[in-house]
Amino acid sequence: MTEQRVADLVLDGVGHTYRSAGQAPVEALAATDLTIRAGEFVALVGPSGCGKSTLLEIVAGLRPPAHGRVLLGDAQVVGPGRRRGVVFQQSSSLLPWRTVAGNVALGLELARVPRARRAERVAAELARVGLADVADRAVYELSGGMQQRAQIARALAADPDVLLLDEPFGALDTFTRERLQEELRGIWRETGTTVLLVTHSVEEAVLLATRVIVFSPRPGTVVGDHRIDFTRRDEPAAVLRADPEFVAFAARLRASIGTTHA
Ligand code: ADP
Ligand code: MG
Repeated sequence: MTEQRVADLVLDGVGHTYRSAGQAPVEALAATDLTIRAGEFVALVGPSGCGKSTLLEIVAGLRPPAHGRVLLGDAQVVGPGRRRGVVFQQSSSLLPWRTVAGNVALGLELARVPRARRAERVAAELARVGLADVADRAVYELSGGMQQRAQIARALAADPDVLLLDEPFGALDTFTRERLQEELRGIWRETGTTVLLVTHSVEEAVLLATRVIVFSPRPGTVVGDHRIDFTRRDEPAAVLRADPEFVAFAARLRASIGTTHA
């Protein structure tokens, strides 16, 4: 039975200023309050440099915030942890000397999950993302799309409460990107995990998310919070993309960000 997910993700006054010696401080993210309910699919959009990646790194526990705190359920985030799986735009976070399966197993090894259980989890996640056939290959033998699938499998292997993705499909060709978008939507439905997706693509946000948060230019602050509630929500992505309601909503949202890129 799948464990019920009850851990809300709460950002309590989280903000960040980069300080390095001899340079003017850069306020990347203004104090941000945000509550993301367990099971929501939230997209964060905003102009380049507005602090989206900074925010995601803070939630991942990879970067301590200059102020504020992040809570997952009752627990304060103080570092990386199994309950938060992370997927980056670049697959350079995959270890080149490990096989695909070896990469997916990594977090489970660190958590000392017994070998048999680990193998079971790895096989299940590789099958979910369609990589069962290449389990024993080196990661550098995979295409960009397959490497992103491997990152997603690695993040899911620990059965996280929250899946954090930073422009995961940004470097892929359109065809591969659209396939992976569809797969991510399926994964979210199947697993019920909370998803926090950073993207510069308004279309991607509206297509996938149940809620889109819009950030202002740097220092980023929340300027829009939209529930996505299309009547034809469950249609295939190709149909949805052509739906007038979808197109109109995406155009309004894009205009509110003040950018013309999709
Ligand atoms: P986004 O992901 O929205 O494009 P980032 O979070 O990457 O934005 O960056 C926000 C701002 O912080 C940008 O102005 C960026 O140049 C600056 N920044 C990011 N990382 C660092 C760093 N390590 N040191 C100094 N400034 C940084
Ligand atoms: Mg970024």
